[in-house]
Amino acid sequence: MIYYDKVSKVYPDSTVALDGVSFSVEPKEFVTIVGQSGAGKSTLMKLLIAEDRPTSGSVFFESSNIHRMNKKETSRLRRRIGTVFQDYRLIPGKTVYENIAFAMEASGRTDGEVAADVPHVLELVDLGHKIWNFPGELSGGERQRVAIARAIVTQPDVILADEPTGNLDPANTYEIIRILRKINELGRTVILTTHNKGVVDEVGGRVITMEKGKIVRDAKDGKYIL
Ligand code: ADP
Repeated sequence: MIYYDKVSKVYPDSTVALDGVSFSVEPKEFVTIVGQSGAGKSTLMKLLIAEDRPTSGSVFFESSNIHRMNKKETSRLRRRIGTVFQDYRLIPGKTVYENIAFAMEASGRTDGEVAADVPHVLELVDLGHKIWNFPGELSGGERQRVAIARAIVTQPDVILADEPTGNLDPANTYEIIRILRKINELGRTVILTTHNKGVVDEVGGRVITMEKGKIVRDAKDGKYIL
């Protein structure tokens, strides 16, 4: 379970990015966080992976306060949360196989596990045929599918996808949502952020709407109504 308790974030230049945000996410939920650019979505996600600290309030992962964790606990937390970003963040000089293998090695997987799991996870995102290509040889949608494969290969409990469809056309956007839904059905918690109305209407399910650092709506079966 993830729990934000009255979380505020004020950046050093006095920008109030989050203003008293409280909500929780249950295991295996699919939650979409929607709001215009600047609403605070990315800041919210950064706090969850301990990339930044709240100015006040607390963020809990299960019963642990994320911002009171030591280094070892923080790396354990990050291994339990797979991340996907708008800009893919693949390593250009490595093949698709090597990009995913690299993430697995970083989390202590053996060569045998890498050889077995990389083809499998690429099948899951329908990219088995691109295993030996470099990111520069793939379309945006394909790159994002590699990034998703990399995020899920170590079987994290939570997938955090921060504007994953921001650079994609509607067909590829639909494909990414379909894959995230599939991952959710396989038992992972998914947290998706977007500013795109089409994405929200496509995903369905729980929608948290943010505006100027605040949650203005938290709907079980939401639509984008800013
Ligand atoms: P979103 O992801 O919804 O677009 P962000 O969380 O990125 O929103 O940003 C929320 C607000 O905080 C915006 O006004 C943004 O300009 C500001 N902001 C984000 N990061 C920083 C930073 N490192 N320093 C100062 N202001 C920031």
